[in-house]
Amino acid sequence: MAGDGLQIVGRIRSCFPENFGVPRQAGLVPTAIAELRFTREFSRKELVRGLEQFSHVWLLFLFHQALAEGWQPTVRPPRLGGRRRLGVFATRSPHRPNHLGLSLVRLLGIDQEGDQPVLILGGVDLLDNTPVLDIKPYLSYADAVGDSHCGCFEQEDVPVVVTFSAVAGDFCRDYQLQTGRPLARLIEEVLAADPRPASQRGRKKSFGMSLWDVNIRWQVDGNRFHVLSCTVTGT
Ligand code: SAM
Repeated sequence: MAGDGLQIVGRIRSCFPENFGVPRQAGLVPTAIAELRFTREFSRKELVRGLEQFSHVWLLFLFHQALAEGWQPTVRPPRLGGRRRLGVFATRSPHRPNHLGLSLVRLLGIDQEGDQPVLILGGVDLLDNTPVLDIKPYLSYADAVGDSHCGCFEQEDVPVVVTFSAVAGDFCRDYQLQTGRPLARLIEEVLAADPRPASQRGRKKSFGMSLWDVNIRWQVDGNRFHVLSCTVTGT
């Protein structure tokens, strides 16, 4: 049980083993692929019958890694540079009452493992192992909003240029050959969304993040993000 009367219907297997690098919203990093694996009680074909005709699904999930930190009445969204404090209900912060998340993700396909369906999702903003509480199809005729606005969150992003050292580029090519995972494209998209916390911006510095089982080190100089090295974690 995830809460009073709530059940976990599945878990996310994503390319994000840790928080740093996870996109701040769904859809920002299309190459962020994940599997949704159903828990035993919900792992039946009939529960997803007809879902294949939808391009996108809403996921309701639990910010499980934020549970221990509790919630806050006001937060400072990283997109606003950490300078403005807004009410938690004016943000998408994980530190909210009930710790419920909502993401609109692309449904790339439904695989079958024996008799068990597995959803293949694109553009996720979810940590590996995130518990999913519900799945609903995206209904464009009702859900798409033509006259929306999002106030101070509407701002131009500074374009980022991502480059790779020779050794990092070679690693990504070999890794993709061996695993089929498009590591270089994923790194480019993650860095283009600038995963740095607001407090770390504006400084020439190097950073580390993990994608799948790879640790990536990169350096920032202005709007140039240079990937220095990639190593398999644990080596
Ligand atoms: N689209 C969702 C929403 O609006 O509810 C999530 C937005 S939230 C700002 C996205 C961030 O939540 C990610 O960048 C990551 O830091 C964090 N996150 C993702 N999965 C999480 C999890 N299972 N537990 C805690 N934090 C998580």
